[in-house]
Amino acid sequence: MFGNQMVDLSKRFLEMPCGRERALRLMQDPMAATDFFEFSFRSLFHHLLGWDFEAGRSTKAGGILGFIRSFYGTSEFTEHGSLHGHFLIWLEGGLNPSELHDCLCNSPKYQQRFFAYFEDIIHHHLPDTDDAIEPDFEPHIQRPPCPPEVHAPSDVMQEWDAICATEIKQCGEVLQRHCCWPVCHKYGNADRCHFLFPHEIVDASSFDSESNSVVLMCYNANINYFNLYILVFCRHNHDIKCILSGRGAKAAMFYISEYITTMDVKTYEVLSLLSQAVTRIPACGQDVSPAESAKVLLHKCLSQFNGQHQVHAQQAVHYIQGFGDGIPSHETTPMLSSLLIGYVKD
Ligand SMILES: [Zn+2]
Repeated sequence: MFGNQMVDLSKRFLEMPCGRERALRLMQDPMAATDFFEFSFRSLFHHLLGWDFEAGRSTKAGGILGFIRSFYGTSEFTEHGSLHGHFLIWLEGGLNPSELHDCLCNSPKYQQRFFAYFEDIIHHHLPDTDDAIEPDFEPHIQRPPCPPEVHAPSDVMQEWDAICATEIKQCGEVLQRHCCWPVCHKYGNADRCHFLFPHEIVDASSFDSESNSVVLMCYNANINYFNLYILVFCRHNHDIKCILSGRGAKAAMFYISEYITTMDVKTYEVLSLLSQAVTRIPACGQDVSPAESAKVLLHKCLSQFNGQHQVHAQQAVHYIQGFGDGIPSHETTPMLSSLLIGYVKD
């Protein structure tokens, strides 16, 4: 782990080199980083979300969100070159937005169960405990606490509840509390946070049948949406949301597919690369056909792009290992624009 075979993984509190040293070692071993990403994503989906990778479906017992019907994820790299994932998850029994709005409108009992479910799986506040957080507390380098047996005596369960409250409070303060950084004010957000913090405080979840809007309870304006089990057992920052409207679904799909389709090169850089390619075309004699000279031009432009394209070491290893950008639960069909337009025309 981090290039050090002396770390005793059976201990709960691991003895690790400092963060800077770990980052340097990881940079020198991108293979370890991609292996760890695959291991983490598969462990999360198998053990917490109850996905059977062999059978390609939810396990019989399900997971912390219930039963998963399918998922689609993309692996992305931060500006520092670190892998992380974005996932859309379809739940078994999930309704489409208009069916859902009907149920919420017509059945107070359904509304009650619906809010109880979402308030259980998504939290936006931390427990009110007095736990102090040590300045050097790093949840990433600790193993999570070991839960008791399912039918443990009540005093053991009470003790476990207290342990969990402390864990949620400490991990939540370090991993889920949002503080605005310069990145919050990029992309024309000079006077507001790009991630929409602080969130609006909502005392109780509600449904407005006029606007079909579902508003979920929110007690703390600066805590990023999280799931208790993912926080405590993965010990990593995350953001989990439910998509309850057509507009929300569209926004999420654009958000997630943008990571695949976004070009790293900006428009002005493209134009500059193209003009450089054009100037490098050798002067052709009279006997070269227009098709031939067009081929030369295309070839020059493509090699100019490829020559400028930069990939992170982790990204390169990820591709060499045979992983693509997408992480689907089922086989998917690429929706290329020309195929799509052909399909619509037919
Ligand atoms: Zn912010």
